[in-house]
Amino acid sequence: MKDFGFGIKKSGVIDLDKADMSLMREIAAEEPSFLHCFYCGTCTATCSAGKYTGFNLRRLQLLIKRGQLDEVSERISECMLCGKCQWVCPKGVNTRHVVMLVNKKLHARKIR
Ligand code: SF4
Ligand code: SF4
Repeated sequence: MKDFGFGIKKSGVIDLDKADMSLMREIAAEEPSFLHCFYCGTCTATCSAGKYTGFNLRRLQLLIKRGQLDEVSERISECMLCGKCQWVCPKGVNTRHVVMLVNKKLHARKIR
């Protein structure tokens, strides 16, 4: 293969066969609109929590779908559950419910 002098950064590569996709499946089963997100970032631009913290709902949804849950676990409780993101989402994702489900399911994993 021709070497063009650039490639995919190693840190950006995930093996979907080995990644933990269980949280994504659990959220999608209870809130199917979670799968409709196309990562436009409108929710993040409007986010109340994002104004005061590094909370980024767009990024967290992407990380859940990549099975990378450490940052999700660290940051999810920063959401204030105000629901503004839900009003502006062009894909009708029930974002507030998604955040509540993520909180609930990660909490259940820690106390098991
Ligand atoms: S506004 Fe909706 S579609 Fe856009 S990133 Fe947020 S959840 Fe996804
Ligand atoms: S519900 Fe959470 S993610 Fe949505 S705008 Fe409010 S603080 Fe941000």
